[in-house]
Amino acid sequence: MQDNTHNSDASTSLLEKVPVEKTICLGLTKKALGIVIAAFIVLAGLVGIVVAFWAINNTNAKKDLNSQNPVSFSFRLPTDVIPVHYDVHFDFDIHGWTYIVRENIVIDIKNKSIEQIVLHLDNNYLDLDNATLISPDDRIIFTNNIVFNSTYQTVAIVFGAELKTFLQGNYSRFNLSLECPGIVSDGGLTRSNYLDEGGVIKTVAVTDLEPTGARSVYPCFDEPSLKATFNTSISIDTTTGFTAISNMPILSTLPDDPDDTTVQRFQFETTKKMSTYLLCFTISQYAATEAVTSSNVTIRVHAPVSRIQQGIFARDTAVKAIEAYVQYFGIDFPLPKLDLVAIPDFSSIGMENWGIATFSMEVLLWDDQVSSIKSQQYIAKVVSHEICHHWLGDLVTLSWWDNLWLNEGFTQYHEYVGVDSAYPEWKIFDQFIKIERDAAMRSDGVESAHQLVTPVEGPKGMLQLFDPITYSKGASLVRMIKNRLGQETFQKALTNYLKKFSYSNANTSDLLSSFYETTHDEGLSQFVINWSTQPGFPAISVVSKPGAVSLSQGRSDMNGQSTSQLWSIPVTLQTDKGILSVMMDNATIEVPTNDTLVYVNVDGDGYYRVKYDATTRDTIVRILSSGNWTLLSSKARGSIVDDAISLLFDQTLAVDANYTMSIVKYLGRERALVPWQTAAEAFERILDLTEGSECHVLLQAFLRNITTSVVETLGWSVRPEDTHDDLLLRGEIFSLAVSANNTDVIRQGYQLFLQAKSLGNPPNTSAVDLWPIMLESAGRNNNGTNFHWMLKRYQESLVPTEKEDLLAALCTFEGEAQMNELLAISLNPNTTSVDSVGILKRMGMNSQLSRKTAWNFLKQNWSAYEQANSGSAFIMADILTVPSLFSTKEDYNDVKDFLEKHQVVSAQVASEEVVEKIDGNIKWREGRQQALTDWLKEYLNQ
Ligand SMILES: [Zn+2]
Repeated sequence: MQDNTHNSDASTSLLEKVPVEKTICLGLTKKALGIVIAAFIVLAGLVGIVVAFWAINNTNAKKDLNSQNPVSFSFRLPTDVIPVHYDVHFDFDIHGWTYIVRENIVIDIKNKSIEQIVLHLDNNYLDLDNATLISPDDRIIFTNNIVFNSTYQTVAIVFGAELKTFLQGNYSRFNLSLECPGIVSDGGLTRSNYLDEGGVIKTVAVTDLEPTGARSVYPCFDEPSLKATFNTSISIDTTTGFTAISNMPILSTLPDDPDDTTVQRFQFETTKKMSTYLLCFTISQYAATEAVTSSNVTIRVHAPVSRIQQGIFARDTAVKAIEAYVQYFGIDFPLPKLDLVAIPDFSSIGMENWGIATFSMEVLLWDDQVSSIKSQQYIAKVVSHEICHHWLGDLVTLSWWDNLWLNEGFTQYHEYVGVDSAYPEWKIFDQFIKIERDAAMRSDGVESAHQLVTPVEGPKGMLQLFDPITYSKGASLVRMIKNRLGQETFQKALTNYLKKFSYSNANTSDLLSSFYETTHDEGLSQFVINWSTQPGFPAISVVSKPGAVSLSQGRSDMNGQSTSQLWSIPVTLQTDKGILSVMMDNATIEVPTNDTLVYVNVDGDGYYRVKYDATTRDTIVRILSSGNWTLLSSKARGSIVDDAISLLFDQTLAVDANYTMSIVKYLGRERALVPWQTAAEAFERILDLTEGSECHVLLQAFLRNITTSVVETLGWSVRPEDTHDDLLLRGEIFSLAVSANNTDVIRQGYQLFLQAKSLGNPPNTSAVDLWPIMLESAGRNNNGTNFHWMLKRYQESLVPTEKEDLLAALCTFEGEAQMNELLAISLNPNTTSVDSVGILKRMGMNSQLSRKTAWNFLKQNWSAYEQANSGSAFIMADILTVPSLFSTKEDYNDVKDFLEKHQVVSAQVASEEVVEKIDGNIKWREGRQQALTDWLKEYLNQ
């Protein structure tokens, strides 16, 4: 899965949501019970078999008794019942968006003395009145003693002591028959609206079940290691124009009733053995665009009819990525087809359901007229990510959620393999430093960071693990493992692991023992355990001495807490004569060498930061300002810049502004993407923290100074010689120039916006990657007419990536009326949660004024936001980023007090993180701002 932590700007139409009431249609329950009893009587009469029947008239049975009930519940399911196969039929009423799920679960009962069967069912969405257990020799046992537990979202089907008698004999395999009414609501099965051709609003329903959503859609044994096969079928009234797709190809489409062809049953082929969270179906009126891979896998991108052309890029990327992974893993794509479905107002960015991957619209649909190269690259990454999961996650699945990094860290690394194979000219691995390593370190650099393999407490605890630490730190560790083993051995070990655990599950020790079979690397296990079981990351201090380089390690921390943690660090040293490699297991080591040290951590491959002594720092500065500066690769320069600028935020190593700025001042001559990518984001952050101060104004002047010639070189129009990196760099540099208040860029951007406004589209003489800059330039002009033109276009645009750019620009308007209008839209129940949160987040990022306005509004309307998003961990964590750029004591106390009074149970980690970040910001301003101001003054006066 790609959750929203990886998408800073997901958004879809303000129109694309139907408010859905969260109630269970209990009227169906009686009917359902009647059907089961009728079936039971008929069957009993026909075969005359031995029947045990417990129609316990227990009025308390359906209560959530939690601690006082006689059934003991726990977070994990009992191990005495194992599911083997599900026949699961969803009978939909499209008009009311309700359904009845009818299930036959084939189970193996390991313990014949049990009195109840416990499985998962979220009683907020599903109801259950009774259940039937059928033996292979057609005996039946029935109960209506059903006990729910809301804490663990489980249900005990209590048969009582007679179950022991029923279970005696040679059989261990039984059929559990259940029938539940359910509703398409805000659980694992949701629906959302979208604008289609002719301004018609249509609806799509979709499941999204990782990690614990399955239990809200169908009763099941909802733990990843309880894999089973599934026969899924879906009945819908097809005269409505709706059709269904699911994990497997359609086996048949037949009327439920031969005399009435209105309702058709879509029966899908039997799945491979898989985890419950991977079941998926969509019900929509979509169109599809299709292609076939060289190994005959059918790929279809499904999207609204009006946007189907926008699916072609994702479709072609999917074909290339599948072919690349088949070769890389040495294992065929496990299924005959793959559907990729675009979903409006989707709770995830992408989800790897086996054979039917689902995506937020803006990460699947792309239009070359208005979509930037940045969004194209992001689409390629997310599509590759979800396809890669078909091996890493779907074929071999984590045993339990504490090992989420096995799914997500490995996939996050390997999405680069897919993109690199599909678009080698993009050199996507070069961007790893910025997109993964740096993103991980920003989350991992706070005291409250969690370790990679971390215990999971309760269903809500696991949601908090879908964060940059699990994904990007996980990917960074995978990259270090790959570097340690070498590409060939690493790939062989991975293939061995995937083959060994196919259609099964694994934890970290399974992976390590499997890797050992291939690598015989005695130290690998200890290395991986060292990195995966402690939070944070190291920073290395480097001192060059005669005949040696001294290295000492400590935990990098933006809040200055010292620890005695030690890492096994694969250190690489670039000298003037070559590369030295050494494994650093102690707090301090000396590397003997008479060569001149150039820099440490070659190409930024290791997950650590580096601080140099004055001698080496001077060497670096000298090289960067010399005629030979490009002898350092762009990755090397990117890594050096990234460390130098990030260390400004590290409280334990306490570098001063002179250290950082003397290195990064060379950027005025830099034309490569990676160093600018790392610098731009850090400078934007410093601009945010210093707003209103002299430092802010001086930094803007410095940034204008170093960006102007890059802006002039790249220009507003695409040049014939532009590479992928140039196209990306143009967007980065112009954006930084706007933040630096480059009035020429803002004026020209505004002129181009006015042209676009009269043309109806951005002028084709300018680079499409600068459309967001034109929009932002208009935002800075703060004209109410432009605001409403943009808002209208936002509401009507059929291109999801453009909607994101429009939303970002709308949040740069700082007129009181415009900010209030946006916040009112954010709170409107008809606004999608993605839009609602997108407005808050972007206003939080834009400026002090908009941040303060958004935070005050959020405080006043906290319960409404919490209620609207059902306390979703992902969404609440996103909302909690709004105050994260505050940097005064007053704001710190305000946020801390507020969050203490309004405990966010589902996003406790994010809650602690935001308070810690603000504390770090304050410390940064107190400790670093003056020195930076002094340096900038001196530099600008030269
Ligand atoms: Zn994923």
